[in-house]
Amino acid sequence: MQHNDFTPWFVSPQSQCKLSGFDTEPPSKGLPSGSALEEQLVELGEQLNKLQSTLHAAKTRGLLVVFQGMDTAGKDGVIRSVFSHVSPLGVRAEAFGVPTELESRHDFLWRIHAKAPARGEMVIFNRSHYEDVLVTRVRGMIDEAACQQRYDNILHFESLLQDSGISVLKCYLHISKSEQKKRLQARLDDPRKHWKLQPSDFADRELWPQFTQAYEAALSATSTPESPWYVVPADSKPYRDSFVAGLIVQTLENMKLKTPKPSFDLSKVKLT
Ligand code: AMP
Ligand code: MG
Repeated sequence: MQHNDFTPWFVSPQSQCKLSGFDTEPPSKGLPSGSALEEQLVELGEQLNKLQSTLHAAKTRGLLVVFQGMDTAGKDGVIRSVFSHVSPLGVRAEAFGVPTELESRHDFLWRIHAKAPARGEMVIFNRSHYEDVLVTRVRGMIDEAACQQRYDNILHFESLLQDSGISVLKCYLHISKSEQKKRLQARLDDPRKHWKLQPSDFADRELWPQFTQAYEAALSATSTPESPWYVVPADSKPYRDSFVAGLIVQTLENMKLKTPKPSFDLSKVKLT
């Protein structure tokens, strides 16, 4: 499947995107078998590992990968599979839950900016500043005007990062409501997974149309060529993982990173 053109999954800026127009399932044609997808993921993981080393050595650019999606969309899973091929020294994963009392007294980007990557770093966000225009909007914690203002704040924040050499790649993990049902049921059936369940998972499922609408509005308002949103078909886990790995590899390749030249004359080194 290895994509070299992710355009069909890119959310056009200011497009009034409709998620129903994007597939949650892999394309039916030309899809490799499960084991071929796994091999592809290993290959992409190796490329990712090399690119990350160069990113770290060059220290000219950084990368922030944002994962959003409904409950059980696979945020934890994709992070585990894609980044298991990268040195633990090379990535930092951050998860954002309900803001603490202190966090909620600050502007909504305060806790986010503190965890943003520096040049040389690759950082993964499991949920992000987008929660502040999604769950908050759906639950009526902010009104339409405040939400619009936050889209602007987000656009400015991400272009500040971009201007500082940090690229932002945003992945919406797109699952169908029926796939979520299967995954929630699997969690209910497996006592080892009970800890993952929260009452809000079931309450949010009831609000599926409202969440869908909030996502459509947020993705349309904040997808730009520099900080793009991609709608990742996420009903199939192996496909989702290869897709995301390919997207990150392509983003890093586009940076045209170069390892720095040594700062001294290596030909003069005499090992004794
Ligand atoms: P989990 O990712 O399963 O650990 O759940 C984290 C929970 O925190 C989810 O229900 C999110 O909707 C919620 N959450 C994350 N960020 C925010 C935020 N800024 N405001 C309100 N709720 C949030
Ligand atoms: Mg959860």
